[in-house]
Parts: sequence; structure tokens; C-alpha cells
Amino acid sequence: MDEYDREYELLVVGSANADLVFGVERRPGAGETVLGSDLAVHPGGKGANQAVAAARLGARTALLARVGDDAYGRLLLDSQRAAGVDTAGVLVGGAPTGVALITVDPSGDNSIVVSPGANGRLTPEDVRASAALVRASRVVSAQLEVPLETVVETVRHLPAGGRFVLNPSPPRPLPRELLQACDPLIVNEHEAHVILGGAGGGTGGADPEEWARGLLALGPRSVVVTLGAEGALVASGEGVGRVPSVKVDAVDTTGAGDAFTAALAWRLGAGAPLAEAAAYAARVGAVAVTRRGAQDSFPTAAEVDAL
Ligand code: ATP
Repeated sequence: MDEYDREYELLVVGSANADLVFGVERRPGAGETVLGSDLAVHPGGKGANQAVAAARLGARTALLARVGDDAYGRLLLDSQRAAGVDTAGVLVGGAPTGVALITVDPSGDNSIVVSPGANGRLTPEDVRASAALVRASRVVSAQLEVPLETVVETVRHLPAGGRFVLNPSPPRPLPRELLQACDPLIVNEHEAHVILGGAGGGTGGADPEEWARGLLALGPRSVVVTLGAEGALVASGEGVGRVPSVKVDAVDTTGAGDAFTAALAWRLGAGAPLAEAAAYAARVGAVAVTRRGAQDSFPTAAEVDAL
């Protein structure tokens, strides 16, 4: 790949899935067949969601991902381009597009089967082949819906002064090389417990400030703990601070974490200090929970300012 002549404010390295959603009266048990509502297909996956969230805020955003050479792959590429994401780094083929099969019952409880498909075939070699894209990006963000070794390879190509943001979802114990590159590591409660537990120091008790300090001791330059309606905590060498929550009437929290992470990464790239970037991200997350869906719920910068 040639050197990129433009600079991206954010490169997202991550997953792209088609979310196939059925409403059901009752989720099926073993050996059971139930009838569902008409199928709804939505573009999703944490990588694709974060890229759309950043681009909708106005960030110059690129996505490094892999989709299948199929209709869902084209749906994902189209939705990224419609949001203004540069898709030159989206690789096509090698396996079917990742799919999440989601059944939702009337109480809102769901059952989900994920077929990672092409997401599982995004390899360290793919990252090496796209190293120029990584180098052309002020901030790089990743999640863990693609292979861990692919995310580790990504941090090896960060440019001098480049910043790496990791949302370790789904969570698993992380190698030290990856932890040390994070600035910040962004976790919710569940992710905090899994990563602390995997590091062998217990899961951190009940106090989010303790989780933040425990995670910081594992090597990241900074840590953000998201607390849903309670807002978030930021922790760095300067101490632990609380990001105020924004009071809204929540209707659907799907994608709030992705909106928060994308907004925070973008503001950091624009030079904002961590606490300020997190406060902005909390406003973006708050708008997102007032609307249904994931990508459909992500606001523009003007909508965030109007909050
Ligand atoms: P996800 O469901 O996307 O995995 P998450 O668990 O990673 O989400 P949350 O902590 O639920 O992340 O949400 C991220 C941020 O969005 C929160 O830190 C907060 O700033 C904002 N947010 C989430 N829910 C609400 C809410 N009900 N009211 C106001 N802000 C919210």
C-alpha cells in the first residue's frame, strides 16, 4: 500500500458484522422451533460502529477490517461510506461476513449467536500490509472482536506521537505489550473484572476507583471506566477523577459504549486532555441512549452541542 497523503484523525481496527434481528414471543429452547417477526438487518460490529460514530461527529475516520465478498459485506461497506468513513482499508474475502443472529423477546431479553466469519481472518499480516494506514492516523482504536494477535500487531506500527485506545470487548486477559500501549484502556465493569482477574490480582472488589487503580498498575498510561448512567472514571498518573453523568431519558443503551469510545478517541486526537475528552464522550453516549439501535443512534456534533 502506498503512503497515505492525508492524515486520519481516527483509524478504527476492528470488526464489521451484519446484525440479523428477529422479535420472538419466546426464545427457542433445545430442539424447538418458534416463529419470529420479519427479519431486520442492521450494520454492526464494534469496529464498524465506532468508525460510524466518529465520522458522524465529523472526524476524518478510516476503518481497517475484513468483510466477506457477499451481500452483507456490501451492506457494511455502503453504511461506512454513507457515514463518511474511508473504506480503503477494508479487506474483502477469505470468509463470509461476520454475522450476529439476535432473537429478542417481548421483555427485551435477547439470545445472540455470533459467527465471526471474516473478522476472524483479519490477520497480523493484514495489519503489516496496511502499516501505512496505521502510520497516517493520529489515534488508532481497537476492540477484541478480531484476533488478539492482530490488535497486538497494530500497536507495533503506531507512529511516533500516535495514540492507541483499546476497548477490550469481549474481554480476556491481555498481554503486557498491549496494556502498555493503551492510552487509555476503556472498560466497563465486566471488562474490568475479567482483565484484573486474568492478571492474577483478584477482580478488584466493588469500588470502581479500585478497579481503575488496579488496571493502571497493569501498565496502561491511562484508564477509563464507564459506569452507564453513572458516567465514568478517568485514571492516570495524575490520579483518579470522576466524569459527570448526563441526565437523559434512556430508551436503548445499545452502542453507548461504542459511541463513547469513538468520541473520546477523536477528542484526544484533537488535543483535548483526557478528562475533557471523556466529558465530551459522556455527552455523546448520553445522546446515543435516547435513541433506538446502534449506528442509528449516533449523534452529529451539532446534536451533542444541543444537549
Ligand atoms: P455497551 O452496552 O455499548 O457495551 P458499555 O457497557 O461499554 O456499553 P456504558 O457504560 O453502558 O458502556 O456506556 C458508555 C457511556 O455512555 C457511559 O460512561 C455514559 O457516559 C454514557 N451512558 C450510558 N448509559 C447512559 C444513561 N442511561 N444515561 C446517560 N449516559 C449514559
